[in-house]
Amino acid sequence: MPSATEIPAAGPDTSPETAIVVGAGVVGSACAVQLARAGVRTTLVDWQDPGNGASSGNAGSLSAQSVVPIALPGMLRQVPKWLIDPAGPLHVRWSYLPKAAPWLWKWVRASRMSTVHRSAAALHSLLDTAIEDFEELLGPEESARLIRRHGQLLVWRSARPDRTEAVGHQLRELHGVEMEWLTPSEIAELEPELAPVFSRGLLLKRHGHLVDPQDAVQTLARHFRSAGGAFVKDRVADIDVCADRTVALRLDGGRSVHAHRLVIAAGAWSARLAAKLGCRIPLETERGYHATIPGVSGFCTRPIMDVNNSTIVTPMASGLRIAGTVEIAGVDAPPDYRRAKALLTHYHSMFSHPPAGEPTYWMGCRPSLPDSIPIIDRVEGLPNVILAFGHGHLGMTGAPATARIVRDLFLDRPINMDISAFRASRFA
Ligand SMILES: Cc1cc2nc3c(=O)[nH]c(=O)nc-3n(C[C@H](O)[C@H](O)[C@H](O)COP(=O)(O)OP(=O)(O)OC[C@H]3O[C@@H](n4cnc5c(N)ncnc54)[C@H](O)[C@@H]3O)c2cc1C
Repeated sequence: MPSATEIPAAGPDTSPETAIVVGAGVVGSACAVQLARAGVRTTLVDWQDPGNGASSGNAGSLSAQSVVPIALPGMLRQVPKWLIDPAGPLHVRWSYLPKAAPWLWKWVRASRMSTVHRSAAALHSLLDTAIEDFEELLGPEESARLIRRHGQLLVWRSARPDRTEAVGHQLRELHGVEMEWLTPSEIAELEPELAPVFSRGLLLKRHGHLVDPQDAVQTLARHFRSAGGAFVKDRVADIDVCADRTVALRLDGGRSVHAHRLVIAAGAWSARLAAKLGCRIPLETERGYHATIPGVSGFCTRPIMDVNNSTIVTPMASGLRIAGTVEIAGVDAPPDYRRAKALLTHYHSMFSHPPAGEPTYWMGCRPSLPDSIPIIDRVEGLPNVILAFGHGHLGMTGAPATARIVRDLFLDRPINMDISAFRASRFA
């Protein structure tokens, strides 16, 4: 066991470099695996067991060809309608509005086409090989157990695309997304349980899904330990940069952990940690919910997104998961499970004979930046601290490529893609 005051860095003492990764969600766990496999003595710190943040209960979609950011032209006009609908896709807790207002304003500004195009290109470069990247991290056996490659189906109730949707299609065309438009009868052929209420379908062929996102993160954490990494269960209370530029983290339990380099991958809580180093990042949480109906299997083959209701239904190993909604209320407010129950209303209207059962409910904090793309960057003036957070709606998909970039930044290796879009300074 480590001493009372200082926890030694993990792994065999062969590498001159030691690293601490804060956050054992999918992003931190993937970074930790990459660093440990590269021979870096790595310690992963989280106050929860691995895979218990947003990475546990999400919809599990590996949206490799997702190139459409959340803020799009025309969306602002829909916001008032959403806000007054209790089952609508967006809810702002009024008491939190003054705190969220600056972020919401940046989000509105991110819907300009110049930003939309920049975000789409960045998403394309980060996510395009997501499934292969996840498979490489998990290994063949665990990939066969956890990953499915049946694409993702988007379905619309509306007969014609509105302006926002049209921009999405334009971006998909521009980035060569492999897709197929479906008529109502083709939708029924692909997913026979869907109710005949959808007029248009789009099959995104290169998407896939995880049948248990939490299991996937726990598996990454096991691989990390097998590669010599150590996990410390505690909360990081403060960060000190020492005179020799190494970092010391003070933990809630009164102990400290020390290393040459630090990766902040603490999801929606990351901005609080970055602020301790003087970085001001406009990170907000878009809280999301799920209802999972246990024991349902073979009901549908792939994640199905009811686009007009922003509700996604994914066949998971444990049952049928209905996920979605965005609630702006901050990371500290207790969950409001009425939001999860509202998802069930949409679910019941999506299928002809929706399986019944006592659902389990969950809330998770998506770590969101206004332009829908993460920060993967060194801290200005502190090159031994790397930021890796802000993956918003696409963290399961983006984590493996993020981890590869973090490893290469860490080891000063050449990076095989342009990462300028992921700089923290874009918000300066
Ligand atoms: C309803 C819903 C559906 C979603 N569906 C999808 C999907 O289909 N596909 C997809 O790609 N993405 C999806 N997402 C998004 C995805 O879940 C997130 O982007 C991703 O999980 C973020 O991962 P993370 O590792 O950054 O954060 P998290 O998983 O939240 O992990 C952060 C960790 O940091 C720890 N931490 C924070 N502060 C400290 C501290 N001070 N000290 C120690 N530890 C700390 C936390 O305990 C936590 O474990 C969805 C999200 C939601 C909510």
